[in-house]
Amino acid sequence: MIAIQLDALAKIYPGTIEPAVNNISLEIEKGSIVTLLGPSGCGKTTILRLIAGFEKAERGTVSLDGKVVAGNGIWVPPEQRGVGMVFQDYALFPHLDVYKNVGFGYKGEDRRERIMQVLDLVGLQGLERRYPHELSGGQQQRVALARALARRPVVVLLDEPFSNLDADMRAQMRLEVKRIIKNAGATAVLVSHDQKDALAISDKIAVLEAGEIQQVGTPREIYQYPENSFVATFVGQTNLLKGKIGEDGCSVLTALGKIPYNYTHAYQPGEQVNISVRAESLEMSREGNIKGRVKEAMYTGEAIDVQVVVDLPGGESLDLVAHVHPEEEVREGDMVAFSVLPNFVKVVGDK
Ligand code: ATP
Repeated sequence: MIAIQLDALAKIYPGTIEPAVNNISLEIEKGSIVTLLGPSGCGKTTILRLIAGFEKAERGTVSLDGKVVAGNGIWVPPEQRGVGMVFQDYALFPHLDVYKNVGFGYKGEDRRERIMQVLDLVGLQGLERRYPHELSGGQQQRVALARALARRPVVVLLDEPFSNLDADMRAQMRLEVKRIIKNAGATAVLVSHDQKDALAISDKIAVLEAGEIQQVGTPREIYQYPENSFVATFVGQTNLLKGKIGEDGCSVLTALGKIPYNYTHAYQPGEQVNISVRAESLEMSREGNIKGRVKEAMYTGEAIDVQVVVDLPGGESLDLVAHVHPEEEVREGDMVAFSVLPNFVKVVGDK
């Protein structure tokens, strides 16, 4: 079942010419977590606000649970849409304790029971009488989430939910928030510019650039099979190369030589293509046919991010990025060789 349907939405803010979002169509299944991922200013928050009813679109429709709530001459105000919102700064009331923050605006007869139920869900039992300033960032976020879930919303919208947390807490809260949303059986839309957040928490990711959706897919689809060079470079680190599908149909001929390629069915031998070769699909090996000099090597713990300059026959050179196993010894100035693992090689559109 579809919980949220956006159809050809466009929003132009007063005094601007370019639409902040354009032609946004997206279906979000009930019970799923979808992240709107993209760089600053690409329109993520605008989409969230259009769903909530804090903004009105110039074109298109928003439907929740199968009913149009905006567009086609219909306008359902935000408070009647059944939408729970978790704001970036949590927007807790500083003068109200946890219990009152969570119950704020909840008028149901089962008020006390419901508040205790959602506090239990977010793991805050026993902290009912604490005030926001007596809570950690992660606990404040749980209060905001509990407040949003208390009214059993059709959807929960979370704007940059992890941006106020430090790295440790962030990793923990990604798992927590996912667990809480799933246990509540809620449908959630998150806004993030952080690919790690998006990959870790989402059932689906919609990648946006300049107000338009570039690709919608599962985290694996987005990471492993980016459809265009924007998605390939925005999510993860990659090398974009021009090439031609080889006669064997399972390789691409590039300035770096023949690169093995697994997914050629859509392309004919001889066809010009752009490919994305993920940093982790360049494997350092003595037998590798891609040889270059290390320009920079940055140890990150889980890998060494290596920038390599490869000299090409015509006197030109090409910069590559590779993720090398952290136990390898790689230093600036070293000559290194790589071979390509085909699994993370993908033809991308020439956008
Ligand atoms: P960020 O990650 O920085 O929050 P975002 O992807 O959420 O960015 P939006 O806040 O949706 O982006 O903004 C999309 C575009 O619309 C931007 O160019 C922004 O400057 C513009 N914009 C947003 N709000 C308004 C407004 N009230 N009036 C005019 N322009 C606006």
